[in-house]
Amino acid sequence: MIAKDTEIGLKNAKNIESIQSDCFEADVVIVGFGGAGAAAAIEAHDRGAKVLILESAPSHLPGGNTGCCAGFMIVPSSVSEGVAYYRAMAFGTVRDEKLIKTMAESIIAVPDWLNSLGIPTVVNARRIAGTFPTLPGSTVDQILVEGGGHVAFKRLAEQVKNRGIVVQYESPAEQLMQDPLTKEILGVVARKNGIDIKVKAKKGVILACGGYQNNQEMFNNFNYPGVHVHNLGTPYNTGVGIWMATAVGAKLWHMSNFELMNFAIKEPSELFNCSASLQYYPMSGSYIYVNKYGRRFVEESRRFGHYKGDIEACRFDHRNADFPNMPPYLIFDEIFRKKGPLVPKHSLPPQMISWLTVHKLYEWSEDNSIEVSKGWIKKADSIEELAGKLGIDTNGLCETVQKYNEDCQQGADVEFNRAPTSMSSIVSPPYYGTELCLNIINTHGGPVHNAAAQVIGINDEAIPRLYAAGELGSFFGHLYQGGSNFPEALAFGRIAGRNAAAESSCK
Ligand SMILES: Cc1cc2nc3c(=O)[nH]c(=O)nc-3n(C[C@H](O)[C@H](O)[C@H](O)COP(=O)(O)OP(=O)(O)OC[C@H]3O[C@@H](n4cnc5c(N)ncnc54)[C@H](O)[C@@H]3O)c2cc1C
Repeated sequence: MIAKDTEIGLKNAKNIESIQSDCFEADVVIVGFGGAGAAAAIEAHDRGAKVLILESAPSHLPGGNTGCCAGFMIVPSSVSEGVAYYRAMAFGTVRDEKLIKTMAESIIAVPDWLNSLGIPTVVNARRIAGTFPTLPGSTVDQILVEGGGHVAFKRLAEQVKNRGIVVQYESPAEQLMQDPLTKEILGVVARKNGIDIKVKAKKGVILACGGYQNNQEMFNNFNYPGVHVHNLGTPYNTGVGIWMATAVGAKLWHMSNFELMNFAIKEPSELFNCSASLQYYPMSGSYIYVNKYGRRFVEESRRFGHYKGDIEACRFDHRNADFPNMPPYLIFDEIFRKKGPLVPKHSLPPQMISWLTVHKLYEWSEDNSIEVSKGWIKKADSIEELAGKLGIDTNGLCETVQKYNEDCQQGADVEFNRAPTSMSSIVSPPYYGTELCLNIINTHGGPVHNAAAQVIGINDEAIPRLYAAGELGSFFGHLYQGGSNFPEALAFGRIAGRNAAAESSCK
């Protein structure tokens, strides 16, 4: 029994018929109300299907990663270029040529579809070089959805609401219901007000519930054991959809592919269960990143984010059985402290867009002083004392700061070739330091899907009546062109919605 209706109550839902006291139904049941879920719902509804959306998050924290994304779309300049580019970026992890072509065609169609719903987009640039200019087909267009992902999701959610589609918030899906003989997917079991509810799907289920960005255990299993991560986006993407799909026989792909942003400050990230991410653009001035041995390991002035090279922070020292650069630390002086907030206060480009900033969970102080007083940033009168407070090697840090200061005076970073204009000596006490962690934008692993957005089983056949879209089993298996996941979620959400609505009704 459902103890209490929340948001749009099941009792009042026009498009769900209660078939038992603890069992509900719709034609198409969608798990996850981000971009992929919204697009799927709109398309399925517009083809005559009764749609129900199950969403983990409460209604005041809507939209998943879509609702806090920047809203940049990188769209192929033509289908043939897109096919070549997507195929090359996949690095052999996608062999389905029909899917590659559909990826190009359906992403190109996204801006017009948004416009047709009254969601404006702006063309920033045509025929520019993509992130990987040496790959074939890398000439792309850059399009921005007006107001970024936050506004775009609000508008998509309005479209969903205007169609009378029911969204059940605070209703995490837990498992799929499957016919043991035909393997057809018959519905979803979800948790609502502390009890399990069964939601029957007469035509199909669409999994649109994101990746595993907020699942430390899965990150350690699929990527780097022992490395601490936090999520730039929604904490509700915990990878449940991946286990729901494997439990009904789905094949997985792209499990080790994820996107990173600049490092995050660990303590507030833990407190808010999302990344307190450092500024998006490289900072300049009297600061360095060091490891626990007090040694620099990276060129600090280059742009972090959507960059596989950041994985050098996860370099493993086989001989010593250690990740020497984990955890990383930020070290700076009094002049740098006063330069501006380490973590952006607002969520407008070019500052960092994140779950923390979009949902205003915390507003960082202008000069970082509040965060020093909270103890999130350690303060010391000397570098030696700072090393002690951070628990990192004292000699290593003292030598590193001295060497870095010498390089600043000579105007050349001998070790890492950091841009001299971005370097200032760390000489103005007091000194500051804070522990950092990896900052995941999103993950790409999940069930394999085909061009029709059908989930593929371990026998390489589609699992009947099961679809997946968006980050959950994204197309991207190795390289990722920034600005692709948002249009991909909408494109494959649309395909899944259309195809699920076209299924015959099961009994
Ligand atoms: C800060 C940030 C900036 C970004 N900027 C860009 C950009 O500019 N351009 C671009 O192309 N991409 C960008 N991305 C990536 C892009 O936004 C996402 O990949 C895309 O929007 C994902 O859409 P989705 O619908 O698959 O997932 P989401 O939008 O994350 O939606 C998934 C939903 O599923 C819900 N959910 C999870 N588990 C369950 C469950 N068990 N039951 C029910 N519901 C569940 C979640 O609460 C969430 O609401 C950005 C991502 C982030 C985090």
